[in-house]
Amino acid sequence: MIITLQAAAAKLRAADKILVTSHINPDGDAIGSALAMLQILREMGKTVQVYIDDKIPQNFSVMPFEEEIRRPREDETFDADLLVVLDTAPDRIGEVGRLTDAPILNIDHHVTNKGDNLDLYVDADAAATCEIIFRLAHELGAEITMNIAVCLYTGIATDTGFFNYSNTKAGTFRAAAELVELGVEPNLISEQMEKRTVHDVKVMTAALQTARLFYGGKVAGMFIDEELSRRVDTTEGLVDLIRVIDSVDVAFLLTFKEENVCRVSMRSKGVEVSDIARRLGGGGHIRAAGCTLNKSFDESRRIIIRAIGEFMIERGYLRPVEYEDRAEISLADFNGDE
Ligand code: 5GP
Ligand code: MN
Repeated sequence: MIITLQAAAAKLRAADKILVTSHINPDGDAIGSALAMLQILREMGKTVQVYIDDKIPQNFSVMPFEEEIRRPREDETFDADLLVVLDTAPDRIGEVGRLTDAPILNIDHHVTNKGDNLDLYVDADAAATCEIIFRLAHELGAEITMNIAVCLYTGIATDTGFFNYSNTKAGTFRAAAELVELGVEPNLISEQMEKRTVHDVKVMTAALQTARLFYGGKVAGMFIDEELSRRVDTTEGLVDLIRVIDSVDVAFLLTFKEENVCRVSMRSKGVEVSDIARRLGGGGHIRAAGCTLNKSFDESRRIIIRAIGEFMIERGYLRPVEYEDRAEISLADFNGDE
C-alpha cells in the first residue's frame, strides 16, 4: 500500500526495535540513507541496527557509523518490530529478509517500486532516498546533526552524479544547501567519493579496452568477464566512461558475478532504460537502471544487446538502418562523426 510521509513517520514513532536495511551492491544513497535513519531513530530513543548483505566499498567509510553496518550471518536473527527498507523494494536486500519477520516500512525513490503487500512511501521525483530522509527528519522533528548531514549529503550528491543528472531539481539544491549550512564540506565529500586506488585505475583502462559500440554508435557496452571480474574491486563509475561519448544514448556495463549470474548496469541520455531493465526482471530510474541475468556471460551479452536494440527501435530511438546494423565496433575503430 502506498502511504504518505506522515504515515511513514507515525510508523517509525510507534516502533521500538528497528532493523534498517538497503540494497545489495550498495551505493552512496543506500548507505547514506541507512546511516542517517540509524542516527535519527537513535535520537528518538529507538533500538536500531543497520544490516546490509554486501561488502561496503571503501569510499563510503567517510560516513559516520559506517563501521556499525553488519552483514547477516547464517542462522542469525534480529528481534525487531519494524523492518525499514530504504532505496529499493525488499527483493534486493539479500539475506537481511531472513533476520526478522517484522512488518516492512519501505521508503524509496524508484519509479519501478510499486509497493505490493507492504507499506511504501515512494517519491520518484526525489533525486535520492536521502532527499526523502531529509524531509522525513523534518517531519519527525529530529535534529539534523553534522553526522546525519554528512550521510544525507553524500547520498544526494552520489545519486545525482554530483548535481549533474536530470534528477537534480531545485528541491535537491535546497536540501543540499541546508546540509552545507549545517557544516557539510562538499569538496571533502567529492574528493573521498572520487578517490580510486592505482589498481582501480588500471582496471578502468582494462575495462575501457573491452568497450564496443553498437547500432551505429548509439549504444555502447563494456564487458567485465569472469577473468577481469577477479581484478575488479568496484564497478562504480565505469559505465560513465562510455556514457559520455557524444553519439551514445545508452551505455551499459555487463559484469560477470558467478556462474550463470551477470549484472547489467545501464545509463542513458534519453531512452527509458528503466523499462528495458524491467523487461529483464530488474528496475531503476528512467536514465539509470539495472538487472541481473541468470545466464552465461556470452548469452547475457547477446540478451542485453538485443533487448536494448529492440526497445530503441520500438520507441523510435533507432532508425531501421541503425537497428539492422549488427556491427560491433571497438573504441579504437570507431570514428563517430569525424
Ligand atoms: P546501478 O547501475 O548503479 O547498479 O543501478 C542504477 C539504478 O538502478 C539504481 O538506482 C539501482 O537501485 C537500480 N537497479 C539496479 N539494478 C537493479 C535491479 O536488479 N532491480 C531493480 N529493481 N533496480 C535495480
Ligand atoms: Mn538511490
